[in-house]
Amino acid sequence: MKASIATVSVGGTLDSKLEAIARAGYAAAEIFENDLLSSPLPARQVGAMMRELGLDCAMLQPFRDYEGMPTDQREAALERMRRKFAVMDDLGTDLILLCSNCSPQASGDRQQMLDDLHRLGDLAASHGKRIAYEALAWGRHVWDHRDAWAMVRDLDHPAIGLTLDSFHSLARGVPSASIGDIRADKLFIVQLADAPKLEMDYLNWSRHFRCMPGQGDFALDDYAAALCRIGYRGYWSLEIFNDRFRSTSAGQIARDGVRSLKALHERARLQLRQAPAMAPPIDPRRFEFIEFAASHEEAEDFGRIFTALGFAPVARHRSKQVVRWQQGAINLVINSEPEGLAHSFDIVHGGSVCAIGLAVDDQAAAVARSDALDVQRFEQTIAPGEWQIPSLRGVGGSLIYLVDAATAPQMWADEFPLALDDAAPRNDLAVIDHVAQTMQYEEFLSWLLYYTTLFDFTKTPQLEIADPMGIVYSQAVESRSGAVRFTLNGSLAANALSSRFVRNYFGAGVQHIAFSTPDIFVAAAQAQAAGLPMLEIGPNYYAEIEAKFALDPALVARMAALNILYDRDGEAEYFQFYSRAVAKRVFFEVVERRGYAAYGAANAQIRLTAQTMHRDPAGV
Ligand code: MG
Ligand code: MG
Repeated sequence: MKASIATVSVGGTLDSKLEAIARAGYAAAEIFENDLLSSPLPARQVGAMMRELGLDCAMLQPFRDYEGMPTDQREAALERMRRKFAVMDDLGTDLILLCSNCSPQASGDRQQMLDDLHRLGDLAASHGKRIAYEALAWGRHVWDHRDAWAMVRDLDHPAIGLTLDSFHSLARGVPSASIGDIRADKLFIVQLADAPKLEMDYLNWSRHFRCMPGQGDFALDDYAAALCRIGYRGYWSLEIFNDRFRSTSAGQIARDGVRSLKALHERARLQLRQAPAMAPPIDPRRFEFIEFAASHEEAEDFGRIFTALGFAPVARHRSKQVVRWQQGAINLVINSEPEGLAHSFDIVHGGSVCAIGLAVDDQAAAVARSDALDVQRFEQTIAPGEWQIPSLRGVGGSLIYLVDAATAPQMWADEFPLALDDAAPRNDLAVIDHVAQTMQYEEFLSWLLYYTTLFDFTKTPQLEIADPMGIVYSQAVESRSGAVRFTLNGSLAANALSSRFVRNYFGAGVQHIAFSTPDIFVAAAQAQAAGLPMLEIGPNYYAEIEAKFALDPALVARMAALNILYDRDGEAEYFQFYSRAVAKRVFFEVVERRGYAAYGAANAQIRLTAQTMHRDPAGV
């Protein structure tokens, strides 16, 4: 797979875009004409710069409003095209993209369009150039790649070929199986983009909401497999129009693009039963631990909440100021070392989650997968006798440890040999249900891609949640077994809780951790009795759910007394309660699922309002 990207996909000036694109490892870039027009660099210099950066120029784009035009306009367009050929010589490409005509003046007479394209083909051939014809989803007469292909096929002109653009094909619902009819040698270039499923006009959908393969809802795996099946060997070129992408780091977007193309290509290969080119996506068995960075003072704050939730400190690290807390199958680790990553993390963010341990069956394969996708690894010197556990950079500079599932008990025994037996854990909480990470809206899709390419995770549809101060976007990624789930949250609203979190926290991070319990009423009563500062829920909520779900008033009274929230989906039920925030940042949730698969989004507004009303420190 030869990776390419259109310069329109990333932010910045043309020279900085090209540098970011080259650094991310693409073989080529498409020059988007507006980027060239607005650049002070002459085309010849841009071409020289690309060669210096090791980038081929895949294509100049776009050229519009040609076929089927009235005579005078067609002649003018041919003259314009001659000038483009000179620019292409400077850039070092022989290929230019021709969009299907959108002009109201364009004739839909097929023979005229063919004649016009033939003339253009002759002109291009005489200059040693080629034309890649693309069916825009909003083209006036040609909006389906099957029609564009039929024209290219019938013309059979050596200088006229096809552009396939997954956005235009899939937005229009054109079956990917139809790619099977296209001759690979006439497919001059493929542009790839994903998009969320939206009900809106094609033009605005395309111009503002395109995203990297895997970030949206399109069935791109089938599309990519169809390309491989016909033996297409040309560029896979990202063409992403997205306002968010242009407002964020060009380097990050360019790297995400490479990651998305590699993962897409791999999924296509697997669909075609070809040998895998990289290690499989990581399928973690469980959360092995959550590590908190905390000063001694903050450690006491966390300890009080953990104790109220039923955890107990069970062991101390062999050589470091690190304590393991336990309950059920849950391990929480508080790291108060005066140096190392946890300490620097605490200095920057304050007491918070600095690492998450995931138990995996094959550490080497997991590391190979992350290397193949250019995920940054982290290494820290360890003391003699300590276990070296591979770790990857995750959200907000935190770490993901890849713990070997089989030897995890031995790891705990070796690393935490000093038993603390002042108190035993209760048995209210069983496992970690999900971890909620909050991030800037601009980086949301980047982390979504991280989780869905590195791991064998599926994503839920994106939800919009009403915060008293704005809208929060929320989406979950889940392992196939459901044992490991993250919810990702981000907002454009400056004062929504998630945005205040990112600001107060100096970056993205874990905002809450949810534990599951087999009995929410026992867990809540015990926690309340043990002094857990609970998030209080007002009486209007309970009146509403009693009526909405026809609940037994006695049950509702018990929920109200314990601040338990409720949701139902068919027969499936969800119960949840929240702690107030600890160390001004992190809060905890306890959930009981009775066949329920989601996260109680219906209650999120209630929770966010309660957090805002209570002037919870996390919300200030
Ligand atoms: Mg396109
Ligand atoms: Mg939650």
